[in-house]
Amino acid sequence: MEVECDLCGGVETVGHTFWGCDFVAAVWQMANVKAPGLMTNPSNFLDLFWCIMEAKPDQDLEASATTAWFLWNNGNAARHGESSRTALQIFKASRLYLVEFQTHCNSPQAHQPHAPYLWRPPPPGWYKTNVNGVVFKERGQYGIGVVIRNDKGQIMGALSKTLPYPLGALETKAKAAEIGIIFSWELGPREIILEGDSQIVMNVIANHDPGPIQIQQFVAGIKY
Ligand SMILES: [Zn+2]
Repeated sequence: MEVECDLCGGVETVGHTFWGCDFVAAVWQMANVKAPGLMTNPSNFLDLFWCIMEAKPDQDLEASATTAWFLWNNGNAARHGESSRTALQIFKASRLYLVEFQTHCNSPQAHQPHAPYLWRPPPPGWYKTNVNGVVFKERGQYGIGVVIRNDKGQIMGALSKTLPYPLGALETKAKAAEIGIIFSWELGPREIILEGDSQIVMNVIANHDPGPIQIQQFVAGIKY
């Protein structure tokens, strides 16, 4: 059964949502992202990502991924009956979030006093999704970072996002894991290892322990 795109009336597919849609194309044009190798709609987001990387190897992949993330959110909102933002609003909002998140991640106080962490690649053919939640103390907001890498350590996708509502530290980490899994799923790969900075959240996802009450709703969404 064909599903109609809420933004242009075309046939909605993954490729349409991220690339083929006229509305989406306008946002990519503003972001100056091109993928000339792409003649038809990509079958998944990973194909699109490869085409973008091949077209412009020095292109800012984090910016592209953040734009894609905003497009996806906007598409979801439209699907659920909310009004779509304009292409310019999406472009500007994605840039704003990216700059804010990068600024925060580069500031010295962003680094928590954790033991040094050594990233290890996943087994051949697998992907590893690293998620973390960060706190913007000054403004009482929380941010989420997701990076997906292949077995060679190459970045396949990344996104950063601030949450528009307040959450506790643990809920933020659970939410980060949820978003990381949904994003990985949208990207295409199915062989995913999830790695997060909260051992509690990771244990709850891996086991059948329902976990602390405040993160149960997020984790239930991940498991099923
Ligand atoms: Zn469309």
